[in-house]
Amino acid sequence: MKIATFIHNGERKVGVVNSELNYVECFKLAPAVANLGGLAILELLAEGEELPELGAKIALAEIKLEAPIPRPRRNIFCAGKNYLEHVKEVAYSGLGSGATSSTAAPDAPIIFTKVPESVIAAGAPILRHAHLTSQVDYEAELAVIIGIGGREISQEDAMKHVWGYTIINDVSARDLQKRHQQWHLAKSLDSFCPMGPWLVSKDELDVSDTMIKCWVNSELRQNASTAQFIFDVPTLIATISAGITLYPGDIIATGTPSGVGMGFKPAKFLQSGDRIRIEINGIGYLENSVA
Ligand code: MG
Repeated sequence: MKIATFIHNGERKVGVVNSELNYVECFKLAPAVANLGGLAILELLAEGEELPELGAKIALAEIKLEAPIPRPRRNIFCAGKNYLEHVKEVAYSGLGSGATSSTAAPDAPIIFTKVPESVIAAGAPILRHAHLTSQVDYEAELAVIIGIGGREISQEDAMKHVWGYTIINDVSARDLQKRHQQWHLAKSLDSFCPMGPWLVSKDELDVSDTMIKCWVNSELRQNASTAQFIFDVPTLIATISAGITLYPGDIIATGTPSGVGMGFKPAKFLQSGDRIRIEINGIGYLENSVA
């Protein structure tokens, strides 16, 4: 099941996408509930309720997609350095704390967060923040959507807590990452979390081996499988939930493969007008341009 959040006739709505037939069937929701976007559905299901009744069918061409969870209830959890080839490409880059000048896999997951207000929809512009950074970079990532919350979730039980997935572009200002050491500022600038195109339930893709690809304009920059994760999804969930309760609608971005702009010599940072397209098998694609 694919659940989209979108604007139609000036109102925010939530619906089930039929991506073969190019329409969306709207859930019948009160406006205040629909305003939560896909989060409304996740929270209803977590409370043990049935999916809301479906109503009107609307052609995808007639809607404007929003981020599937337009305003997460709290920060987005993100894994850093979760693909070995990416660890190698950014080794010695001075990117902050931890085992930063090593080409070896981290001993434990590196977890940081992005503020909820950094989220933007597919198609919305990524702001350049030219007064602040000259090194804006992209990171294509699979994001896990928590369905059932919990604390001290074991690796064995972790997948029971997953509702599904979406795509996130973990946009990062590399110069700010270096200057401030911690990554929060560099990765939480307004518009630095494109998310979409929709939520996909976990049965629709094999998270142990699905392809992630990222193009900048027409150039394929990232091309890897989630089979290359250093820390798999159950490990990330067990690590985060060890002492922090997870809630329905929490989002965990799983890290980016190699091929980020900083990894090239010379580096290929994003410029105004660049178009970033991320595709993940089983989900679809997320495309945004730099303002
Ligand atoms: Mg990242």
